[in-house]
Amino acid sequence: MKELDPQSKARLLTAIRDVPDFPKPGIVFKDITTLLNDAEAFGLLMDHLAERYRDAKLSYIAGIESRGFIFGAALAAKLGVGFVPIRKKGKLPAATIAEKYALEYGFDEVEIHIDAFRGQKGANVLLIDDLIATGGTAEAAIKLIQDAGGTCVEACFIIDLAFLKGREKITPLAPVYAVLEID
Ligand code: AMP
Repeated sequence: MKELDPQSKARLLTAIRDVPDFPKPGIVFKDITTLLNDAEAFGLLMDHLAERYRDAKLSYIAGIESRGFIFGAALAAKLGVGFVPIRKKGKLPAATIAEKYALEYGFDEVEIHIDAFRGQKGANVLLIDDLIATGGTAEAAIKLIQDAGGTCVEACFIIDLAFLKGREKITPLAPVYAVLEID
């Protein structure tokens, strides 16, 4: 499947803003709001993702709360497939499956609706989020997709913070694609 050309990668990288010490000291937050409000950059990214996945025979795109919703829903509408939200615990209203994952300190939990894939066994699902850091969130999300009866055909991220090696955690579960890698 197609990767983005170097010139377009450089264009997207300039559209992402670094915010030092957010949400806590020592973290450099990759702010994608400056990519979203840059129509040319956002359009370039979404056209690339649509081209990459147009023939992937996807049934659903699952996005991780909350920035995964933006890219996932836009891509689902472009490709004409359904969108499924994976949310933080306690937000989804109907019957759910939950998966806990470890944070630096303590645990967090994500959920998916039991009927997210409308009973379609083995539905081809693309997972999408804005960024992979340690990979814990994406690992939990892939388990949820599987528990809900889907097959995660690829995990797609706009940014991979490669030095944190989150990709290594995900590769045994699903192929990983990152539009941009940052060292
Ligand atoms: P992880 O589970 O460690 O891979 O963390 C991934 C989640 O945390 C994603 O939903 C990201 O949006 C968010 N995240 C982690 N680190 C950063 C960062 N440096 N900048 C922006 N978002 C981040």
